[in-house]
Amino acid sequence: MISGGVDIGGTKIEARLFSDDLTTTEVHRVSTPRDHLDGFMEALADQVRWLEERSGAGGKLPVGIALPGLIDTRTGRAFTSNLPVNGHDIGALLAGLVGRRLPFMNDCNAFALSEANNGAGEGFQVVVGLIMGTGIGAGLSVAGRMTRRFNESALEVGHVGVPARTLGSLDLPLWPCGCGKMGCFEQYVSGSGLARLGALKLRRPVRAEEIVASALAGDPESNTVVSQWAQITAELLLLIQLTQDPDCIVIGGGLSGIPGIIEHLDKPFQNIRLGEMHMPVVRIAVHGDSSGARGAALMAARVAP
Ligand SMILES: [Zn+2]
Repeated sequence: MISGGVDIGGTKIEARLFSDDLTTTEVHRVSTPRDHLDGFMEALADQVRWLEERSGAGGKLPVGIALPGLIDTRTGRAFTSNLPVNGHDIGALLAGLVGRRLPFMNDCNAFALSEANNGAGEGFQVVVGLIMGTGIGAGLSVAGRMTRRFNESALEVGHVGVPARTLGSLDLPLWPCGCGKMGCFEQYVSGSGLARLGALKLRRPVRAEEIVASALAGDPESNTVVSQWAQITAELLLLIQLTQDPDCIVIGGGLSGIPGIIEHLDKPFQNIRLGEMHMPVVRIAVHGDSSGARGAALMAARVAP
């Protein structure tokens, strides 16, 4: 069955049309209206209409929507950052514009679902998709499907605190996080986190890309920074293992492009393994930027009548 997915991001709303084997056939992007709810909802509805028209299936096309954040399963209200939709029932508003109810899902869960189906997590039972980019988030797919959970939220591991043992051994300060707490993983292992670690070590502002490039070129201080980043990220993998016990962790987002990232993480992850637990396979995502739309399209096709 052909299907459509819409991936809502902070800068663009992307619509993708998929063939019956979930290969992208067409993409349409518009910038995300961030000031007003009405403009945002119109842009979202236009993307749904574009999919309906391009597919030739009209209102019969399964269309799923991925968004950063969550929709309260009891009230329908959305909670996200950077979008003008907080507290609004965007499912009902969209239905008013396009004439039918469409399923929504968290974009990290969409990523995990997409990679578990003909992606890097294909053939594994419990797949955690870990997105490492400007932020840190994760999603979960079991047996190739979504699991119903209390809030239908992502795995918000970016806002768990880095263990004291790690901050202590690396002599790192507690950095404040946008969520209001101190010492969250996101502040150390996201793109800006890597830059922050670099600035502390090099005593000047530095971009994450620059640290990675210098480390590759053999600069000892930059290599130390990448090693610190890998040790903290290994603690994040351990947190995922101890709480979710996946057999596969798929890494996506901008930082998954760090050359040799799997090798960087392997040793520090092995060093902190708990007892004789079997280690999950850690892989790089294969579906790239299409994850959110692809996962949402897959979900929509499965719930379609
Ligand atoms: Zn936080």
